[in-house]
Order: sequence, then structure tokens, then C-alpha cells
Amino acid sequence: MNRGGPIVAAWQHPGEARAQARLDRFVSERIGGYAKARDYPAQDGSSRLSENLTVGEISARACWRSGIASMERGAAGAEQFLKELAWRDFAHHLLFESPALATDHWRPEWRLFPWAQEADSSMVRAWRQGRTGIRLVDAAMREMYVTGRMHNRARMIAASLLTKHMLTDWRIGLKWFEDCLTDWDPASNAVNWQWVAGSGPDASPFFRIFSPESQAKSYDGKGDYERTWIAEGHLDPPATALSYFDAIPRSWALSPRDPYQLPVLDLALAREAALAAFRSRARAVGSA
Ligand SMILES: Cc1cc2nc3c(=O)[nH]c(=O)nc-3n(C[C@H](O)[C@H](O)[C@H](O)COP(=O)(O)OP(=O)(O)OC[C@H]3O[C@@H](n4cnc5c(N)ncnc54)[C@H](O)[C@@H]3O)c2cc1C
Repeated sequence: MNRGGPIVAAWQHPGEARAQARLDRFVSERIGGYAKARDYPAQDGSSRLSENLTVGEISARACWRSGIASMERGAAGAEQFLKELAWRDFAHHLLFESPALATDHWRPEWRLFPWAQEADSSMVRAWRQGRTGIRLVDAAMREMYVTGRMHNRARMIAASLLTKHMLTDWRIGLKWFEDCLTDWDPASNAVNWQWVAGSGPDASPFFRIFSPESQAKSYDGKGDYERTWIAEGHLDPPATALSYFDAIPRSWALSPRDPYQLPVLDLALAREAALAAFRSRARAVGSA
């Protein structure tokens, strides 16, 4: 087992019994507030069932039945939970019908886009290691490295930074998520990466670029999520933030006593560059 193995293992809830207990607790205690709470990365607002679902410790049908029963009891949030399960189902159907979705752009015109392809550039390395200097993204990448999970909203923001601000091929991010997530699922991972990048079916348009700053303001206003995962610059960082440094390879040579990384890019300039690349691709496709 690698150095981070025992750290990630401590966050897992494996087995059928734990999966069922997780579902039962979610529908009895949290489903009411789910529709709102699911968006706040510092809150325990979602079911966390993905890691059990992905290895078959609980079935999507069992989750669906519980969701329906909750809806019939009038639980607010139940409908949203069912919608998320439907997204999972949609992703699975798409991959079944189009296996190339996991390796190629769903919309072929995106093959012409000038995606950066270097998987180990200093920029991509900073993204992988959670030291871009963009706090919400760094917190997210560290959460994944320590727990094997990343909050859904944080996944969208981290993926958007890589594919839009850094103009990097989504497959580089997809592979890192595959290596790190304990809920890794080939269909959900690929469909969501292509959704963020803009190349997928029913994708978010390329010009929708998440602003990590305004997302942090809206969804982590008090900075709780960032403090949970980023140790540098804090006198008394929590154990969660410190555990990242015990989990990472020694070769990364990072320490909680390092100063916190300055931003590796200017978010406003990078956004403009991404939009310019998008407009020039759109013109090229239009005139082809
Ligand atoms: C870039 C990116 C990569 C992702 N990679 C994966 C992955 O490898 N494996 C994975 O299971 N999910 C993936 N997701 C989807 C989503 O982030 C997780 O399913 C969710 O965070 C799991 O937390 P939860 O179980 O508490 O979800 P809840 O909010 O409780 O939702 C219930 C269930 O619905 C399903 N679900 C929720 N959101 C989605 C979604 N957007 N797409 C598909 N199914 C969804 C999951 O099975 C989840 O367990 C990815 C999202 C993004 C943006």
C-alpha cells in the first residue's frame, strides 16, 4: 500500500451494511434539506453513496425506491435526489451506447480545439497537487487526495479551471480523477468531464466558465471548506488539512510550513484567453 493508502482508507465506508445504513440515515435525517445543502462543500449535505454505488454495495434501484418513498412522504429534496440518480443512469446509458465517450470528444468538432496536451506541465502539476494558489480548487484537490472523494460543486469548479482557464484537454483531468477517486465510475466521470469541457452531449456551453472566486463567495462564504483542507498560512490548521501532507508522495516535497502558493494564473486574463480561443474555434468550425 502506498503512503496515502491508510489515510484514504480511514475515510471509506465499505460494505453492503454500511451502504444501506448510509442510505437510511440520509433519507431519515438529511433528504429534507438536500436540494440546497448539496451545493455547499463544507456541509455534509449529500448522500455520499457514490462510492458504494460504484462498486455495487448498494443498487441504484434501492436508492431510487427510498427516494420515491421519501417523495411520497412529502420530503423536500427527494425529487432532487431522484434527478441525480437519473443523471447517473443517463451517464451509464450514454457510455453503453457510445463507449468512445470515455476517450474521445462526443462532439467531433472539439478535436480541432487547441487543447494543451502536456500532462506534466508546471500548471497541470500545480492543479493535481492542490497548489494553484486558487483556494477553492486547491481545497478540492486536497480533499480528493485525502478522502478519495470530492464534493460535486468542487468537482465542477476544479474541472472548469483545468479545461477553461488552463485550456487543458479534459482527458488529463479525467485520468487524474480516475487515479484518485474511490467513487470513480467510468461513465459518470467521462460524462461530467465532457459536460464541464463543453464537448459532451447536453454539455455546459464552453463560454460558461466557473469563477472560483464568486463560487467561493456563494458556496463557501465563511471559508470553512478552504480551512478544512489548506494548512499553509494557518497557525493551528485542522488535522484534515495536515493529513494531506502525510498522504502525498515525499517526492512532492511539500510542507504545511511552506508559504501558501501565489496564484499560478491570473483568473481574469485566463478567462479572456479561453473565450478568445473558443470564439476562434467557433469561427473555424463555422467557415469549414
Ligand atoms: C468532473 C466530474 C467528475 C465526476 N466523476 C464522478 C465519478 O467518477 N463517479 C461518480 O460517481 N460521480 C462522479 N461525478 C458526479 C458527482 O460529483 C458525484 O456523483 C457526487 O459528488 C457523489 O456524491 P454523493 O454520493 O453524495 O451524491 P448525491 O448528491 O447524494 O447524489 C446521489 C447519487 O446520484 C449520482 N450523481 C450525483 N450527481 C451526479 C452527476 N453529476 N453525474 C452522475 N451521477 C450523479 C451519484 O451516484 C450519487 O451517489 C463527477 C462530477 C464531475 C463534475
